[in-house]
Amino acid sequence: MIPKLKELTWERAADEIVVAFDPTEQLVLADPSGQVEALFGLLREGTRDTDQLARELAGRYPDVTADEVESAIEALDELRLLDDAQRMPLPAAQAERYFSNLAFFDTFASLERPAEHFQQRLLDAHVVVLGAGGLGSTVLMNLAGLGVGRLTLLDDDLVEPRNFARQFLYAHADIGTSKVERAAARLEAFDPALRIRTVKSRVRGAAEVASLLDGADLLVTGIDRPTEVDLWVNEACLAAGVPYVRGAMLPTRVIYWSVDPGRSACYACALRADAESAAGSGTAGVARRLAPELPTINRGIGPVASLIGSLVAMEALRYLTGFAAPVAAGRFRLVDFRAGLAETEQPWPRDPDCAACASVPESPSLRAAQPASSALGSPMWTG
Ligand SMILES: [Zn+2]
Repeated sequence: MIPKLKELTWERAADEIVVAFDPTEQLVLADPSGQVEALFGLLREGTRDTDQLARELAGRYPDVTADEVESAIEALDELRLLDDAQRMPLPAAQAERYFSNLAFFDTFASLERPAEHFQQRLLDAHVVVLGAGGLGSTVLMNLAGLGVGRLTLLDDDLVEPRNFARQFLYAHADIGTSKVERAAARLEAFDPALRIRTVKSRVRGAAEVASLLDGADLLVTGIDRPTEVDLWVNEACLAAGVPYVRGAMLPTRVIYWSVDPGRSACYACALRADAESAAGSGTAGVARRLAPELPTINRGIGPVASLIGSLVAMEALRYLTGFAAPVAAGRFRLVDFRAGLAETEQPWPRDPDCAACASVPESPSLRAAQPASSALGSPMWTG
């Protein structure tokens, strides 16, 4: 392994060096002796392993030990400032196709985990997308751009003129034709390397969802009907150990959450917590009981569908690559577009008696149960 500095620049300021790696962020390192700057100079060249770096520095600073140099390399790697100069690049055509993806992952890459590793995880991934409507069509284009290798699409709808407010996957000539077939054709034209399976069907039960999960790494759902569909997805994904991300549109907000089997509370746990809070006699309980009487009208416009589609695609990217931890596991995250995109989150507690959760072994990293902050169980949202 040959540590090399990533693309960054620095300048000495008295006893410190100021490192700039982002136009709006910098790092200040104490360096009264000049040893750090000397190490930076050698690391920029990216031609020496740790032993060679230690020998070269000891020639200039006799009191520097090999252990100190090794610790400094580890610290710089923790700060995500180093790459391995010997890492295997992707083939040239892929390096060009995924140029910006690789540049994005480079920020999170370390000596042990180069940017190419993140991209390879995407290329090897299989994502099941339920619904090719407002959420699905935005998420699908994002997953395709990221280079997710295999996609399974499920939808039973035909393209309708009213979809054009938010479903930019389709063209005028597609009106009246099958969404999954047109979506697959559009995605294949976008990137012929994608492998796409289409399922022209509605979801009628957990078993049907389970039948799609063989070899899947993640499921994304934007399906709103029937009202039981979220519980079916929850049951099937927990049993298969496949995480899922759900996104939807409310009249003035978007909402998303995810379930990480064995690590987070599940949606059945959320409904239990919600039922308990709705059973109360307060105004929230009354509103909760009235909510199902509201008509379901899809009010989703392009910017709203694009917003929730992007948030869901970002959560999917967290699960697929681990570049950051999921932010919506076991919690509703809401973005209010009436209030300057103010974001709130509502974690829900794990139900110790949850039958769905009992189907998966609990992971040691399961977060401690947190109190539900308000009632939010009515499936009145639209994907
Ligand atoms: Zn549960």
